[in-house]
Amino acid sequence: MACGDIPYNIDLPRIIDAIEAGARRVVLQMPDGLKQYSSQLLDCLEEHLARRGLEAEVMVHMDHNYGACDLQYGQLWATIRPDLIVHIGHSPYPSGLASPSVEPREIGVRILYVPAVSLHWPGDEFIGEAARLLRERGVARVGIATTSQHIHRVRHVAKLLEEHGLEPVVPRGFAPYFSDAQVLGCDYRLPRRVSVDGFLYVGGGVFHPLGLYLATLKPVVKLDPYEGRAEDLTPQGKRLYKVRMYKVGEALEARRWGIIVGVKTGQYRPWLVGRLKRLVREKGGKYKLLASENLSRETLVAVDDSWYEAFAVTSCPRLPTDDYWDYHKPVLTPGEAVMALTGKLEPYLFPW
Ligand code: SF4
Repeated sequence: MACGDIPYNIDLPRIIDAIEAGARRVVLQMPDGLKQYSSQLLDCLEEHLARRGLEAEVMVHMDHNYGACDLQYGQLWATIRPDLIVHIGHSPYPSGLASPSVEPREIGVRILYVPAVSLHWPGDEFIGEAARLLRERGVARVGIATTSQHIHRVRHVAKLLEEHGLEPVVPRGFAPYFSDAQVLGCDYRLPRRVSVDGFLYVGGGVFHPLGLYLATLKPVVKLDPYEGRAEDLTPQGKRLYKVRMYKVGEALEARRWGIIVGVKTGQYRPWLVGRLKRLVREKGGKYKLLASENLSRETLVAVDDSWYEAFAVTSCPRLPTDDYWDYHKPVLTPGEAVMALTGKLEPYLFPW
């Protein structure tokens, strides 16, 4: 539903229905990119609540929110005690990837996931440029990948690709985590399941498409509805892959590991920590466990000393690829750490 000048469709009646079902204290969470619209959103909600004669205290969660892995309901419950957290812009985090220590329903918080459906679309013409770039890369059979904001465009994009003589493939989703063609920065299971020559990523930025390259090592062209242009990200992907392989190579002889354990609700992965601990021991090495909610260069530098030869990050696997690629010691994703610890350099494992 339209609200003020917000260039996203957000299902306000669904939020109001959830509030009507008994919520008195509500927290709205959203990615940083949507926060600029949060004041308008509050106004629209207030209007709808008044129309239905409902009363609720609604507040915006200001802190960074990186995804559905980052609901922070534990902290919220310990203080504000909301009845309802409305998490806008992300679908639920795949439960198999994380082991939250406390389930939200156990502490009485309801979580409502509400998509933010992007209205950005500059017209169909720019697909021609994407088709040309894909053909230049030798891609005929093309998988489509996107994030939750753009999944409503997938069928239309597939039809346009067909009109340009390409063979589109839309990976099937699985509820409630993924719609067709949907990816997360740490989960590319859908595109990896399809047999294609390369991918068209629909969306902005480079975070997801570069992750798509690392997960598939196939050409990736981005169709950016915000900028209205197409871009071949394959060269950038290849460069990133080379850097990652160099980092894995640097860690091959490492014996003393720091294993970083995620503290965010969707980034605590004891199964993964256990696997890495086992591999370090099998290699005759040693590890120290480091718990972190928000890993930053400062916090890493603060604990780092000459004992550590390499780090494995089990919280968000994009921290090593995006934030610590230039750290003076190898900081690896879980998959890369497995490669370094087993000495198997093929296939490249990303992210797990
Ligand atoms: S990529 Fe990182 S921030 Fe994004 S959903 Fe995965 S764990 Fe969370």
